[in-house]
This record gives sequence, C-alpha cells and structure tokens, in this order.
Amino acid sequence: MTEKSFRDVEYNYKFINERIAEAAEKSGRKREDITFLAATKTVDPAVINHAISLGLDHIGENRVQELLSKYEAYDLSRCSLQFIGHLQTNKVRQIVDKVDLIQSVDSVKLAREISNQSVKRGKKTDILVEVNIGREENKSGVFEENLEELLCQIAELEGISVKGLMTIPPICENEHKISKYFYNMHKLFIDISEKKLDNVSMNILSMGMSADFYEAILEGANMVRIGSALFGARNYT
Ligand SMILES: *Cc1c(COP(=O)(O)O)cnc(C)c1O
Repeated sequence: MTEKSFRDVEYNYKFINERIAEAAEKSGRKREDITFLAATKTVDPAVINHAISLGLDHIGENRVQELLSKYEAYDLSRCSLQFIGHLQTNKVRQIVDKVDLIQSVDSVKLAREISNQSVKRGKKTDILVEVNIGREENKSGVFEENLEELLCQIAELEGISVKGLMTIPPICENEHKISKYFYNMHKLFIDISEKKLDNVSMNILSMGMSADFYEAILEGANMVRIGSALFGARNYT
C-alpha cells in the first residue's frame, strides 16, 4: 500500500467524522450517538487496518467470498465486523461465527437459517431487518406493510436478536427526495419501537452512505455505512 492511500484515508476519516458530528449536533444529538461503519468491499485489508488504527470501530463487507478471503487479515481486536450485503441462505454457515451483526435480513427463511446455525454454535446473532423503503422491484428488503409480521416471526427464533432496521433507498436526483425516504424510514422505526414487540429491540437505524449520510443523520439515522468517501472510488477490475 502506498503512503498516499494511507494519507487519503486519514484525511477522509477526519473529514467524515467532522461531518457526522455536525449532522448529529444539528439533529439534537452527539457525535457518539452515531455509529460510523466503513463499507470495505474491494478495499485491501492493509488499508482497512490503517483506518482501524485511526479509531474506526465498525466495518462491513457485502460479499461472503470476499469476507472469507480477507478475514484472517483484518485487525478485529477492537473493531466489529458486520455483514451488510445480500446474504444467500446457503452461505450463512460460512460467516455466522465470524460476524457480530448481519444487517440485511429480509425473510423468515434467511432468519431461520441464521438462527439454526447460531444455535449450533451456542451463540445468538444480532441482526437488522432490511426494509425496501422505496418499494423498488428486484431490490432486497421487506415492504413496510409486512415488517411487523416478519419481526414477530423472527423474534421467536432462539438464535437471533433483532437490533433494528436498515435500508438502502432508491438513487435520487436531489437531497430533498432522498431525505423524504430517510424521513419515512425513521417514522417506521419509531412506530415499530413504540409497539414494543417481544424480543425485538429497535436500537439501530442504519441508513445513509457516502453521498447522503449527512441527510440520513438529520432524519434520524444512528448508523451510517460509508465506503467511497473514506477509501476513494471503487475499482472493480
Ligand atoms: C457499498 C455499500 C455502502 C457504501 O457505499 P458508498 O456509496 O461507497 O459509501 C453502504 N451500504 C452497503 C450495503 C453497501 O454495499
């Protein structure tokens, strides 16, 4: 890894933290009320570990294969590793003992497999339920009208602990539109919290990425998932 990419990450890390602090304050909260999770897909573990050395304490991968191939190289002594991508049921057993939280659960079938694999290992896995707030076809996540029923079914599973919600809103051409999705998502989060469902805690609302984390925090996010703004634009080749 070059000195330059390390320096870029340092600069970006500091800048993002300042923006998070600013948005937190603007929405009546503190910097420490907001969790900064770095989305680390395509990023070299040496660069990830450099960010961890700066204080980053949450990272998220979104492909099972990539997570497994990088797993031994991460410095996870004081950093949580989460799964943030679409997870296939048949791959759950490969990661369940490696991740602290799975953000993208949107079916009972997937939840049941996470639970079964967790029970086998004598653990309980924290999850978020993914909501398709923009009602987009071919996109992961449950529609809001089905959320409560799904939560009630998942809550009965022995090996799972529901911690909150996550969403990836549609790509929007302006801040006003994206803010509306974040607003709707926060409202849903509050409505569900107020129902006090058994075995369901609503502590985490994960929304906002590089382009829109500021708006997401203003609308109530308490976890943002940031990739390119920290590590630079991705190169998939
Ligand atoms: C890649 C990714 C992000 C971060 O995206 P950026 O636009 O690079 O910040 C956030 N959430 C998920 C689920 C991702 O896959």
